[in-house]
Amino acid sequence: MLIVQKYGGTSVANTERIKAVAERVARTAKEGNKVAVVVSAMAGETDKLIGLARKLSSDPNEREMDMLLSSGERVTSALTAIAIEELGHKAMALTGRQMGIITDTVHTKAKIEKISADRAKKALDEGYVVVVAGFQGITEDGSDVTTLGRGGSDLSAVAIASALDADLCEIYTDVDGVYTTDPNIVPDARKLEKISYEEMLELASLGAKVLQTRSVEFAMKYGTPLIVRSSFNDNPGTLVTKEDKDMEKVVVSGVAYDKNQAKITVMGLPDKPGIAARLFKAIADAGIVVDMIVQNVSSDGKATDISFTVPKTDSKKAVKLTEEIAGELGASGVNLGEAIAKISIVGVGMRTHSGVAAQMFETLAKHGINIMMISTSEIKVSCIIDLKYTELAVRVLHDVFKSAEVK
Ligand code: ASP
Ligand code: MG
Repeated sequence: MLIVQKYGGTSVANTERIKAVAERVARTAKEGNKVAVVVSAMAGETDKLIGLARKLSSDPNEREMDMLLSSGERVTSALTAIAIEELGHKAMALTGRQMGIITDTVHTKAKIEKISADRAKKALDEGYVVVVAGFQGITEDGSDVTTLGRGGSDLSAVAIASALDADLCEIYTDVDGVYTTDPNIVPDARKLEKISYEEMLELASLGAKVLQTRSVEFAMKYGTPLIVRSSFNDNPGTLVTKEDKDMEKVVVSGVAYDKNQAKITVMGLPDKPGIAARLFKAIADAGIVVDMIVQNVSSDGKATDISFTVPKTDSKKAVKLTEEIAGELGASGVNLGEAIAKISIVGVGMRTHSGVAAQMFETLAKHGINIMMISTSEIKVSCIIDLKYTELAVRVLHDVFKSAEVK
């Protein structure tokens, strides 16, 4: 088999951990597999480098940030290759450039355009384990180093797995896999044996931090099977794969929460065509991603209210823009609520089962939790609630849905 193994920051946090990684890699290779390894920077290293740059500038040049941040992964790739060689196995570290990862030119959040994996393939054929520095690439003309956004090594791994046509992509981290919810809140949260790409995508974008969202999108697009597992033990982990019949039997696979949203409400907007377009165009043009939107029916046919959510980090900017437009449109006011959380239940089984949303609302109501906004997709129901009820909501929803298996 050809296996890609990605090791996150905690898995390569120090030389002892790197030795443990090297042992696992060597074992996998000795079992007769070709192994391509992708590594993150040592835990905390990327943040440390960002901190250093911020000491010198409040707004450091993004090209230089990519030069700086890509160094973290370069260090771990070389150290990991050295540790593997020490175990008597041939290993070769490769930077993003040497791996042939071509990206666009958007520094600090570049997109992978293609991978020319010839060099890596040749090295694998010659019996080397290749150890690729994650999170980085090179622009098409070869002139600049780019990075793929925070958590981007997951994406490197998935993209490399598809370029090498790997049989499997294993994502090693410090947890045993994907859980039904955050085990810090619900101690009896269960590890899932498998989950569909779509569910994982919802959970990842809802803040379940095990996999970077873009990496899941990429894996889904190319059908690369992923396994999320721990590098600290030999437990089997969670398989992220195509949806199958079994998965539909489980109505709710996971309960997720997101405390990083803020809610903006515009009151008394004129109820006529073009108003929402105007408001959300301005927000989009500022590069702010809107998540939920709710517009009320106007009772008098003249004025209406619109509420929407944005990432907390963009809330000040979004409010300023909204106030400007509200002024021009003659709205009666704008307010910002930051003490909110988004609670979501996710499961492909919702497609075929009714009453799931109602049960969620009833459960929240029973515990006196008010719902401020609701949004749904085919496989998800999300509610905005008061921030202080986040943990309670996660607990009671997990409890209600944990045994919701269909007979
Ligand atoms: N080191 C980078 C980060 O912390 C990339 C990664 O770990 O995936 O975001
Ligand atoms: Mg990571």
